[in-house]
Amino acid sequence: MTGGVGFGVFSVGGDAPRVGFRVGNGILDLTTVRLGAVFDAASLNPFLALGRSAWEDTLSRIDQLVTGGAEIIPLEQTVAHLPIEVGDYVDFYSSLEHATNLGRLFRPDVEPLLPNWRYLPVGYHGRSGTVVVSGTPIVRPCGQAKASDEVAPTFGPSRRLDIELELGFVVGVGSSLGAPVPAAVVRDHVFGVVLVNDWSARDIQAWEYQPLGPFLGKSFATSVSAWVTPLALLEDRFVRAPVQDPEPLPYLRVAGEWALDAELEVELSGTVVSRTNASGLYWTMPQQLAHATVNGASIRTGDLFATGTISGSKHGSEGSLIELTSNGVHPIRLGDGSTRTFLEDDDEVVLRGRAGDLELGEVRGTIVPASV
Ligand code: MN
Repeated sequence: MTGGVGFGVFSVGGDAPRVGFRVGNGILDLTTVRLGAVFDAASLNPFLALGRSAWEDTLSRIDQLVTGGAEIIPLEQTVAHLPIEVGDYVDFYSSLEHATNLGRLFRPDVEPLLPNWRYLPVGYHGRSGTVVVSGTPIVRPCGQAKASDEVAPTFGPSRRLDIELELGFVVGVGSSLGAPVPAAVVRDHVFGVVLVNDWSARDIQAWEYQPLGPFLGKSFATSVSAWVTPLALLEDRFVRAPVQDPEPLPYLRVAGEWALDAELEVELSGTVVSRTNASGLYWTMPQQLAHATVNGASIRTGDLFATGTISGSKHGSEGSLIELTSNGVHPIRLGDGSTRTFLEDDDEVVLRGRAGDLELGEVRGTIVPASV
């Protein structure tokens, strides 16, 4: 799987960044085809704020232009930039398999799933300022960590640097403070989806996360694809989500099919180490949006909501190395014969996704040594 389809921000040579639409291995420059002033911008935000009818009109025009043989700039002549000015960033924890696996690893003596998990989509607010575009090098973070056999923490480069394979949705149209966004109107607010790598330093995370949740173990970087795939192009890829037991509270109930049938894969330094599908996620996008706003919190253009790690039930379908290697106990073997428990310096991770014939923008990142 290579490529990606969707809206993004690109530049050619030293030119100013502008909005384009990626088709195959090229980009349609939306500023030269006179679709509107919003495309002469360094982010998709002005376009996203226009709303659903403008998004759909634009897609129809793009379809006509591409069919009509409009000029497509070869991808290798371009540089891709972060496609959105990220407003707020939320990361959920919506995979039953992932939550169960991590519960077992982090709290081996108790029930892996905490009592709230089946009643609400658990999540936390992340750091929007460190969301970076695919291709950005990832500096190994430093921090405090304390192994279970140590009496006090030590400071240094993370020794358990990990990935999290996730999807994210991007908010187009915001809401007003005090007015929850019902699950039923998700399409009026959400523009599209990206692939997300929620880089995670497991040793820092394990020491710091109680009682308030993830902090420095995740805030050092979050990578997203350069291309945002509109929901409008994914209409026929939504399937029925897993049955929820118990039935959610009324504000979390939603009609229709909301699980995205997208095949996903994780490649680590040239070897595909995991393959899974996003359709198994327990909590769906409308439920996540309804829950995040049910207290009256407003959303803004450019907000990013990530699903949480997407893991399947079989070995080889886990979306993180901590799961794939059982917390580093069972290393995985790469094509060159080397083994990995967690990420090493110079490792390159590529996340890819495909929904039917449509490729999602990939997320690529290489680990560079800690700056100490
Ligand atoms: Mn995550």
